[in-house]
Amino acid sequence: MIWRCPICRRPTDSAADRHSPFCSERCRLGDLGAWASGRYAISEPALEFDDADFAAREEEDNET
Ligand SMILES: [Zn+2]
Repeated sequence: MIWRCPICRRPTDSAADRHSPFCSERCRLGDLGAWASGRYAISEPALEFDDADFAAREEEDNET
């Protein structure tokens, strides 16, 4: 079965690659490191900030 490495998106074959679903041991360890440092959870609040900025600008327009 073909998987995509969650770290670098390279296709890997689960029948041939013992690191599957990762393409290599380096990516497997890199994934564990990313979870441990919480890097996956940090990428989301940036979108909320953009929304708040947009809403504030709309409020300004209504006052004029
Ligand atoms: Zn990889």
